[in-house]
Amino acid sequence: MERIKARFEVLDERFAKVSGDDWMERIFDGGRWTEGPAYVPAGRYLVFSDIPNDRVMRWDETTGAVGVLRAPADYANGRTLDRLGRLVSCEQGTRRVTRVEHDGSVTVLADRYRGNRFNSPNDVVEHADGGIWFTDPSYGIDSDYEGVRAPSELDGCHVYRIDPRGEVRRVADDFDRPNGLAFSLDESLLYITDSEQGTIRVFRVDGDKLSGGELFAECGNGIFDGIRLDTQGRVWASAADGVHVYHPDGTLLGKLLVPETVSNLTWGGPKRNRLFLTATTSIYSLLTTATGAPEAYGPSR
Ligand code: MG
Repeated sequence: MERIKARFEVLDERFAKVSGDDWMERIFDGGRWTEGPAYVPAGRYLVFSDIPNDRVMRWDETTGAVGVLRAPADYANGRTLDRLGRLVSCEQGTRRVTRVEHDGSVTVLADRYRGNRFNSPNDVVEHADGGIWFTDPSYGIDSDYEGVRAPSELDGCHVYRIDPRGEVRRVADDFDRPNGLAFSLDESLLYITDSEQGTIRVFRVDGDKLSGGELFAECGNGIFDGIRLDTQGRVWASAADGVHVYHPDGTLLGKLLVPETVSNLTWGGPKRNRLFLTATTSIYSLLTTATGAPEAYGPSR
């Protein structure tokens, strides 16, 4: 197991207490563009995509072994674990959002908006009300590199919500390339990255509607892709030089510097304090003093 120095760069004193291992484990190094990390607590494994290689991988926390979970994998990209512990995935090749049920069968949650196919769903989160929110940039149809080249059937790259009955509603239409998304801890806010603009915007959530959309952060080094929150409400955002960490007030608190461009992140482990980074060819992991917020909140919340 290769160990790589982990460097936390403190830019605001409020970040001084946030740290962790001063090294990262490189738990996988055979990818082309890794993405879509989701930790499954019941099985103690991490699922992630290796998009250009068209496969979904599984890293077993109990043995450290990595194997292929699914290949070909419809160029799966981002995913989340829903309230019932099921994996919900964005598939760029089939241009749809799917869920794997407990018996292994696959349910298509959405593949069209008003009769037109999506571009290539990229990342997804679930709200406690059962609504599933996802972004639909065009990376999977722009070329054959991470999908299947095809013309868009829509008038741009937008954000959508699937309600629990399966109805799809467009919730934001003023993005260039919407990408990662994450709710605030009370789910009253939704953070969405734009991977063309290199920004995070923040929206107020009201049922199935969004309002606001103010600029929350600008990347300054590459672009933002996937984002996750910790239990303090801090926003951890993937970037070219690692992970940028923002206070809910928008202040850049600090960074975790990583030797490869980071596409996404999540926490896992029994205490949800083990950070996993999907970073170009690799998956890096380290324990942090920060704890990851749950991927989704149960219906009882
Ligand atoms: Mg993404």
